[in-house]
This record gives sequence, structure tokens and C-alpha cells, in this order.
Amino acid sequence: MLGLMQDRPLLISQIIDFAARYYPKVEIVTRTVEGPIHRYGYRDAAKRAKQIAEALQGLGIKHGDRVGTLAWNTHRHFELYFGISGLGAVLHTINPRLAPEHVAYIANHAEDQVIFVDLNLLPIVEGVWGNLKTVKHVVVMTDRAHMPAASKIPNLLCYEELIADKPGTLKWPDFDEKTASSLCYTSGTTGNPKGVLYSHRSTVIHSMMMCSGPVLALTPNDAILPVVPMFHANAWGLVYAAPICGTKLVFPGPKLDGASIYELLDKEQVTLSAGVPTVWLALLEYCAQNKLKMSSVKRSLIGGSAVPYAMIERFWKEHQIEVAQGWGMTEMSPLGTLTRFNKGERELPDADRFAITAKQGRPVFGCEMKIIDDAGNDLPEDGSISGNMVVRGSWIVKGYMKGDGQSQFLEDDWFMTGDVCKIEDDGSVVITDRSKDVIKSGGEWISSIDLENAAMGCPGVAEAAVIGVAHPKWDERPLLIVVKRPEANVTKDDLLKYLNGKIAKWWMPDDVQFIDAIPHGATGKILKTELRKQFQGYKLPTA
Ligand code: ADP
Repeated sequence: MLGLMQDRPLLISQIIDFAARYYPKVEIVTRTVEGPIHRYGYRDAAKRAKQIAEALQGLGIKHGDRVGTLAWNTHRHFELYFGISGLGAVLHTINPRLAPEHVAYIANHAEDQVIFVDLNLLPIVEGVWGNLKTVKHVVVMTDRAHMPAASKIPNLLCYEELIADKPGTLKWPDFDEKTASSLCYTSGTTGNPKGVLYSHRSTVIHSMMMCSGPVLALTPNDAILPVVPMFHANAWGLVYAAPICGTKLVFPGPKLDGASIYELLDKEQVTLSAGVPTVWLALLEYCAQNKLKMSSVKRSLIGGSAVPYAMIERFWKEHQIEVAQGWGMTEMSPLGTLTRFNKGERELPDADRFAITAKQGRPVFGCEMKIIDDAGNDLPEDGSISGNMVVRGSWIVKGYMKGDGQSQFLEDDWFMTGDVCKIEDDGSVVITDRSKDVIKSGGEWISSIDLENAAMGCPGVAEAAVIGVAHPKWDERPLLIVVKRPEANVTKDDLLKYLNGKIAKWWMPDDVQFIDAIPHGATGKILKTELRKQFQGYKLPTA
């Protein structure tokens, strides 16, 4: 017997309509690519989203067409999020930090018809212009006064001009909620990037869960600054969650340095920020050097890479900011687990609380997970053993664009994440490694994440990475690679002494190497492939 409730489709356009009607004056504040700060309310944003949708119809964009963006977090990008998807077209966010050949590859693979690009990212599109096979129009996200005088791209269009004469009165169409809404490619550190095609349904359900009490508990008293880019897994869904909750949004545009972010946090009274650990490292350093405190911020959502214990401690002790660690993937919209304190845990002594936050968190409702061995058997969830993490749920990918990456899709909807983790009795997830980064020593695994986190606590260390290096007896042994904090003179001996007692004895790195900078990929993760190349043929002193 079926239920007798309505089947109204869940559509992204409903989010912006809701915010325009009930939170018309709640602000979206942007540091624009052109420089000045721009501000307006959800009602004006909604009207301009309709204007850009009308302009797209004028350019011949139809239901299902892909429209690319190469853009920072700004109000215009926000308008495109709703304008493109609202029409039933597909918003394809392209990561401008990808190698140019990858940008061209994914624009062609997605068959983008139009590309919207920020002024200072235009050279990327110009650079690959000759290789773009389907793009008919390129729109520069600026006004006439800032349009480039000349470009190798013929008939460049101007965003503000395009919408200027549009009425903004369009009624969003209704369609099947399973319609594709947006598209984001994985960063492709191994092989070509793979496309993750979200639907309206998956996006709305994920967004509602982001808003909820156990996750972000958003309210109109909050102001969010998403440093996480809108081209990285839809800015973790925050750009949809904020308008549902009447929460103010603060967009940093292209300036992601410590000083610029600090200024916005402070002036706009931001209560919640979100981004990858490397961004916060820079901000914490900036605050420490200039003796500044982030006074309005209450919470910081950090994910994309493991959050070191030392960072959690610094946020709390120096700024009274509570860190929430999130784990997820582009393929998961992205949220899987999050620091979720059970009753009484928030009152624990600092060190115990930080230890909980240093884990990847507990699953949120809507995302099922388990660990399996290489033969596909379920493993115990009592913290005793690491295994391959698989997930399923209504906002988890069920296939990549055009059938790529089939081997990651298992029976009964389980998706192979490629992460290796432990699941503890109480559901806490502890990620050990990416499966391709695990260090196998004498038949046992050493967690590079645990070692990195421990090393990051050592005074004088700015950033640490651990890779496995070939060893004649043990197969592989860990090599610790460190970037020092400015003016610090920490040595190998200091590090090994510091680690002593904090990690299992047989995990002790066989050597420590100091370098000027650790390479990061397009989504801010340490590029282990690059480090392994850099240290290829390197001989450990113990080998
Ligand atoms: P990419 O496109 O670079 O893969 P994603 O953000 O989709 O970008 O990357 C997902 C991966 O990032 C996860 O599979 C996991 O390995 C890593 N990751 C994300 N969050 C965390 C976290 N909190 N702790 C450890 N690893 C994380």
C-alpha cells in the first residue's frame, strides 16, 4: 500500500524562492574580483538569478545542457548556482587550479555549451580555447567597464550587460527531482578526472541535512564564510543550506590570504567558517604574528584532509573557536561524517574533547557506511581493525559521468571510497589513509595521517607529510617531510624525541627531511604523488 502524500519534486529553485520570500534582506556579502565589497539581500539575489536564467534561455540553453563556471566564491557565482540549475540546465563548476589540459578535458567531456569565467581566470579559458569543442559562448563575470579590451576568444560576453535588460520575472519550471542539477569532477590526481552528476533531489536532501541540529544547526543569527570554493563539491553544500536557514553568506572572492580572510571575518561578524586545513594554517599564523583574535567566530568546519590535533587546540586556546571536523568526498555531495558530540562530551576536559574532534566524526543520518576487507567481507566495527570504507545513501554517487570508474561501484549500492579507516564501537570514524597512500611495513599498515598529525604538534613545525619509502627488509618505511614555521630551527632529533611515546615504536619515521614547501593539489590536499616523485630513489639511512 502506498502512502497518500504529495509527490512534489524537491527542486533547487525552491530554495532561492523561499529565501527571497522569507529572508529578503538577509545579506550576501562579497569581496568582488574587481576589488570593492558588494552586498545585497536574498530577494535581490533571487531576481538576478532569474535574470541570468532568462539570459541563458536567450543564448539557447535548454533543459539538460551543461553550463560551465570557472569562478571564485562571489555573488555572481551564487546567482549562477540557482539560475542554471533552476532552469533544469546543469551547473558545471570547474576547478581553476586544475592543470589546463584537465580543464579542457572536463569541459569537453561534459560538453559545456557556455562558460562563465571570472575576470582574473579568463587567461585559463583563453589558454585552452583552441581545444574546446562544444563551447559556443564565453561570459566574463564582470561589468562593461572591466571587460578586457582584447581577447583571443571571439565575441566575449559581459555578465552585467547580459542581464541588464532582462525582467527577472521568470517562473521556475517544475520537472522531475531526479533531473541533473550540477556536475563536479574529482581532481584526478591519478588518471583523468571523473564527473559526479548531482540531482536536484540529492542536493536538496543533502542541504536540509547540512542545516539540521546535529550537523550545523544553522539559524538567522549565523553568518557563514565559506572559504571552501564553490568549485569544490558545491562549497560543501553551504551555499544551499544558508538560504534555507536565512543565514548570511560572506564570500571571499579570489583573496584567500590570512589578512583578507581575517578582515572579512571580523567586519562581517562571521560566526561559522569552513575550509580545508591549509587555509586555516595560514590564517592562524597571520593572527599569531599580528596578535589578532577572531572574536565573532564560534565554529570552524574543517575537512578535505585530516585536521591535526594541534590545529584544533590552537583554534580553541587562541580564539575560543570550536572546530568541527568533516569527512566526505565530491562523490558524497560531500558530507559523510562530522564531529558530533553526544550528551556530556562537550563538557569533557579540553584534551579529551580535542581527541574526539581529531577523529573524522560520526556518520550523519542519510549516509550509511561500513568497512570491508579486500575480498568484500564485512569487518568488525569495534576499532580493532582498519578496512576499505564503503558508503551508500541518497546523496552518494551511483555512477560517474559517461560510465567512468565502474570498479568503485559494488553490489547493493555500496560505493568504494578509496579511504581506509577504522569504525569504533560508538560509530566514530578514524581515517587511516587513502588506500593508495598507506605505508606497508613488515605486512602491517602504518597510518601516514596519524604520523602527520602527531608531527604537526611539534613546536616549530608548520606542515608535515609522511610517505612510504622502499626498504629492503620491511618493504616500506615512513619518511617524515617537514616545513618549518618561519624562523623556527627544529631539527630531526627534536622531531624524533617529540614523537617518542606519542606513536607506536615501530611507526617511528626512519628519517626526517626538511623542505621549503609541501606541494598541494587542486583541492588543497597534500600531493603525495608529487612528494613520492620528489623523493624517488631516496635511500633511508636505515636501508
Ligand atoms: P578530490 O576531488 O581531491 O578527491 P574530495 O574532497 O572529493 O576531493 O576528496 C575526498 C577525499 O579527501 C576523501 O576520500 C579523503 O581521502 C579525504 N578527506 C576528506 N576529508 C577528510 C578528513 N576530515 N580527514 C581525512 N581525510 C579526508
